[in-house]
Amino acid sequence: MVQQTLARGFTLTGHGVHGGHPVSMTLAPAGAGAGIVFSGAGADIEAHWSRVDASNLRTRLAGDGASVSTVEHVMAALAALRVDNALVLLDGDEVPAMDGSARDFVSAIDDAGVVALPAPRRALRVVKPARVSDGAGWAELRPANAGLHLDVEIAFPCPIGRQRLALDLTPETFRRELAGARSFGFLRDAERLWREGLALGANLDNTLVFDARAAINPQGVRFADECVRHKMLDVVGDLALAGAPIIGAFRSYRGGHSLNLALLEAAARAGALALELDSAHNEGVSVTGRSLSP
Ligand SMILES: [Zn+2]
Repeated sequence: MVQQTLARGFTLTGHGVHGGHPVSMTLAPAGAGAGIVFSGAGADIEAHWSRVDASNLRTRLAGDGASVSTVEHVMAALAALRVDNALVLLDGDEVPAMDGSARDFVSAIDDAGVVALPAPRRALRVVKPARVSDGAGWAELRPANAGLHLDVEIAFPCPIGRQRLALDLTPETFRRELAGARSFGFLRDAERLWREGLALGANLDNTLVFDARAAINPQGVRFADECVRHKMLDVVGDLALAGAPIIGAFRSYRGGHSLNLALLEAAARAGALALELDSAHNEGVSVTGRSLSP
């Protein structure tokens, strides 16, 4: 299996959900071995767990005196659609929230198309179990034969409650089951988040908001279990910071960005992730556009 990049660049504009500032984001093709690189404010920051400097309710990368926040949804779309290499140019410090899901990123990547690059793709195979816990929840990676299996369970107060979802990640399952699931929160938490400088750009157009009884968004939920689907979307985006696609089985209970990233770090440091040529991750991918290889 070979590496891929975007067939052409595209630009999306919106607002950061946490900072609330308008931002323009351009995704551009990049060569083999480049990985996903966020560029802005004079700094280039590689999308890797070692660059994460905050994971409270979002994943923020930092380097060279700059930072970029809320990378998880665009990272999920890129990883799920097998875009190994791309440059993400931002004129602000946060990825635009769009509608709170990965749907607009998926549509834009699908419109642009992906092309093969003349270099083999590598994957990180889980060769032994790794697990982290924070007392309330846990996350683990276990070996699996092929692909990435995801099993995510959440437990929130009513009306969200307990939800569990398991699936094998492919471009198709991501598009169909996960991409449209939005960020969510409780109305009663909003003032506390605002005091912490978070969710300043959150509104009913980019966040699924619950009161004590139900979602207050006029259109309601997109899926009955939209929250666990969004949590799984976040997992895909956080695991994309491993540096290569993971071959293994991920499971979490009451997880989140902090646990996902702690798990990646623990697995890497324990030697639980072994780099190999990827023969397992191109299922169902239609490569469109002109090949960049001669
Ligand atoms: Zn999210």
